[in-house]
Amino acid sequence: MQPRSLPRSAHWAVQHASVDDDGLHLSQAIRSGQAVAVSHASLHGTSSVSSTVVEGSGSEHRLLCHAQVPGLVKEGDCLRCELAGNYSAVLCVNVICLQHNVTQGSIMVACDNINSLWPFKPEYLPNPRDKNLDLMQAVWASVQQSPIDWNPVHVHGHQDRKVKDSHRRLSALNCEMDARAKLFYRHLSAVLPTLEAPQLPIHNEGWTVWSGDTKLPSPSRECLYAAIQDPITQLYWIRHKRFSFDARLAIDWDTCAAGMQALQPARRRWIAKHASSNCGVGTTLVKWKCQDIDRCPRCGVPEDTTHVLRCTAKGANEVWNESIAKLTAYLQKTHTHPRIQESLLTNLHRWRHGAFTLSNFQENEVNSATTSQSSIGWKNLLEGLLSTSWRHLQQRYYHRHNSRKSSKRWAKGLFVQLHHLAWNQWEHRNKIKHDSDRARHLRMERQLDHQNEHFCAQTHSDLPPQERLHFRLVLLAIPNKPLSFKQNWFRNVAAAKQHAARRHANAALAETNSREQSAVLHWVLTNRPS
Ligand SMILES: [Zn+2]
Repeated sequence: MQPRSLPRSAHWAVQHASVDDDGLHLSQAIRSGQAVAVSHASLHGTSSVSSTVVEGSGSEHRLLCHAQVPGLVKEGDCLRCELAGNYSAVLCVNVICLQHNVTQGSIMVACDNINSLWPFKPEYLPNPRDKNLDLMQAVWASVQQSPIDWNPVHVHGHQDRKVKDSHRRLSALNCEMDARAKLFYRHLSAVLPTLEAPQLPIHNEGWTVWSGDTKLPSPSRECLYAAIQDPITQLYWIRHKRFSFDARLAIDWDTCAAGMQALQPARRRWIAKHASSNCGVGTTLVKWKCQDIDRCPRCGVPEDTTHVLRCTAKGANEVWNESIAKLTAYLQKTHTHPRIQESLLTNLHRWRHGAFTLSNFQENEVNSATTSQSSIGWKNLLEGLLSTSWRHLQQRYYHRHNSRKSSKRWAKGLFVQLHHLAWNQWEHRNKIKHDSDRARHLRMERQLDHQNEHFCAQTHSDLPPQERLHFRLVLLAIPNKPLSFKQNWFRNVAAAKQHAARRHANAALAETNSREQSAVLHWVLTNRPS
């Protein structure tokens, strides 16, 4: 292949392309509408490669091309890799058309990833919300420049048994490209010092957005928001000592984002509030001057957000055990690595009772995942910050057992289960607190009635005539009035009595300092029962 006609920013896609007759045979196949292009990718974490074949009615003089996928490849992002393969196909075919003067014709382009075929559809227009817009746009613009028609065909992957007879050849090619991509990856790993995806401008991609040295694959709202806001948010938590600077790299932010999306907005807010202690726990209520004491409504010791999860008062253990039973059922249902189950359940229990983390499970990988989680924190685990190691370990476990389950889905489910575990402790604590608060308010109301009754029984001759109007209601009517009326009545009468006592310097009447009256007054003024 002679990619000289292409700009430098396209070379990555065609530099490993080869064809033995300079594309002459293919140019004829394109003219007669018999050409096919098939590509497949091989993903290895965040680095991946694609292999592409273009041939006529048979495999003679076929074109083979391999490329390393540039830019940010998110874990499991097949779309980006398949797009890279399709991009190679379009560029190679365009070069052949140019070299052999092909001005019309058609080609069938086949792929097992249906979304990667979108740029070939006549109705498609690039949209900033598209994932991998850079490559989507590059493929689309290159197709627009192509003199021939491109007919996209979705073929089933090599694992599927649903292959139509008419697609058997395409499916076989798809399968072959899968094997070739794996071989190419092995070749690259042997010759290159690193397989980190190169950050390159891509020919025909249009305008680009960069964050430092990294190109954003799409200027979607989520992408831009993450690029601008995530570092700020993470530094906030580091500053507030939720986790250390180094631990931030071990956190599975993707699972955190996916898990958060699975929760109601109110629950998402709760996580942020609970993690930053900006919620109604004892220590915070005292800081906010809403409460005089910071004690736990369940057991009486000073209460912070950690205590909410660790409190072992009556009832709290039952709620915890119930949630743990549900978590265990989830771990079993999703075929979680048995040692991961063991580590999570053991260490959550140990953390709750203030014991150090245990990391002597039978597998070293589980032990290092446990240590990684320990560096992030077990309270943080309950508040949505999982170590990335869990997911990687689980994915390897699924692979080992030939399971096609997704570790991403597993981690998201785990996030939700852990959230429920924490939330249920909070709910239980609130139930107790609000029940006891209600009891204290009722007690204060009884004291208020008693005080009002006491006022009514006293002489009013010391009060000026306008203040005596308070007593025009018969005593029996006052206790049946709404609470706010009774509180205001008490406040006014207490103030008038105090005023009169001061005026007459009559110590006998200056009863406002009685303990009960002071407590009722404090409650009326602050709504904080004593
Ligand atoms: Zn407690």
